[in-house]
Amino acid sequence: MVKISEFDSFGVEDLSREEYLKKQGYIIKNCKCPKCPTFVAGDNPIGYCFPLVGTSQKIHLEKDCICETCPIYKEYELTHTFYCTRCSQVCQAHKAEVAAGW
Ligand code: SF4
Ligand code: SF4
Repeated sequence: MVKISEFDSFGVEDLSREEYLKKQGYIIKNCKCPKCPTFVAGDNPIGYCFPLVGTSQKIHLEKDCICETCPIYKEYELTHTFYCTRCSQVCQAHKAEVAAGW
């Protein structure tokens, strides 16, 4: 049985609501999505890699993803892309493990 905590790159499981919001603010502040060709102006909040932000309500067409150039990507050792359309890091990692039969 796969545990979500194994994919929790941001360590949110142990955070209080206040700490969670603080970390989310940090992610959003450093997020490069607004400079990405796939991004649709006016979408809010950004920082789609972070758990619970959710996918974009406005982005429907994947062009390119610049997540791999983002400081957050490196700091938290993220491994996926297109978080705006495909879901967060923990969500995609979990789906990949389930698909692999774990
Ligand atoms: S990794 Fe991508 S979604 Fe996450 S903060 Fe950076 S640019 Fe935004
Ligand atoms: S998650 Fe990736 S594809 Fe989506 S807007 Fe951010 S950088 Fe672009």
